[in-house]
Amino acid sequence: MSSEVLSFDAAEALAAAALRAVGASIEAAADTARALARADLDGIASHGLSRVPAYAAQLRAGKVKGDAVPSVTRPADATVAVDAGDGLAYPAIATAIRWAGSLVRRNGIVAAGVRNSHHAGALGLFVEDLARDAGVFALAFTNSPAGIAPAGSGTPLFGTNPVAFACPMTGREPLVIDLSLSVVARGRIMVAAQKGEPIPEGWATDAQGNPTTDARAALAGAMLPIGGAKGAALVLMVELLTAALTASHAGFEASSFFDDKGGPPRIGQLLLAIRPGAVGADAQAVADRVAAITARMLAEPGVRLPGDRRLAIRARQRRNGIPYPTALLAELRAIAG
Ligand code: NDP
Repeated sequence: MSSEVLSFDAAEALAAAALRAVGASIEAAADTARALARADLDGIASHGLSRVPAYAAQLRAGKVKGDAVPSVTRPADATVAVDAGDGLAYPAIATAIRWAGSLVRRNGIVAAGVRNSHHAGALGLFVEDLARDAGVFALAFTNSPAGIAPAGSGTPLFGTNPVAFACPMTGREPLVIDLSLSVVARGRIMVAAQKGEPIPEGWATDAQGNPTTDARAALAGAMLPIGGAKGAALVLMVELLTAALTASHAGFEASSFFDDKGGPPRIGQLLLAIRPGAVGADAQAVADRVAAITARMLAEPGVRLPGDRRLAIRARQRRNGIPYPTALLAELRAIAG
């Protein structure tokens, strides 16, 4: 597959131009393009510019509203509720982050909900921003269209529901943990199906809920959660923290992020921010504990911090640029016109 290398700025500009051309507002296109290019910069291609053609189809069809303006209500002193208005998720989440970063200084803890939302991409970027810019511990959750079955069933009801966490670290970038709750991304099963290859046991079940190594049968079935029934319980927890708390669609009610069929997905996101010093130890003591805990971990041979692989990719690609499939860039340039 041939590829072309773009700088971060060029990737961001191309994504923004493509999104603008299909009706996204300047603000929505800018926030979305930035998040997608940042995911690519960190090597998370599944949530980068590869998503633009699907977003463009949905913007054209009105499944996502390009001119939606996130609206904010303040149900309590330490909370903020953002309605994405069936628009792209990124402007609504950027709004939630701005409010959370500001309110957490006064309140010590903040919860921010986003409803009537869409695909949130690489969740770790949001908590990283909160940890770096506001100096807080941050958690983020999103639900997503159905892919995982509850324990005991083979019927996918809930999403792969990623969870992200970040905290500041003295003298370096924040520590970021960012993971979906499925064993593997659905995209890996799709690739195996296209190639006619089997998948390893433990990735998915067929439509009857039986373990399968047949990629096509897996696509008709359900993805398996990490950690068996315990992982399935975490999937449910994230579904409730997002879809229930923000009164959004559950995975089984949400339309696909990948095509222009159906109405808006209307899923939900939840961000939590906690200021070091807000729960009983002063900020310096918290920083000291973070340093001690991570240093002890890193003293073990072969151990690294979660997020450090992405930081290394980011540093390398900032220098060398980001490789993109030529076909994807041609498609984006055609959309941008
Ligand atoms: P990965 O499996 O790549 O990584 C999971 C986490 O584990 C990362 O924080 C990773 O750090 C860490 N990790 C992995 N190996 C090690 C190791 N040996 N030592 C220390 N830490 C380790 O992530 P996923 O495939 O689960 O998710 C990829 C992206 O997809 C995420 O950004 C997620 O938010 C996004 N996503 C978004 C969805 C949505 O609907 N918006 C749905 C599903 C996923 P590191 O990266 O540094 O390796």
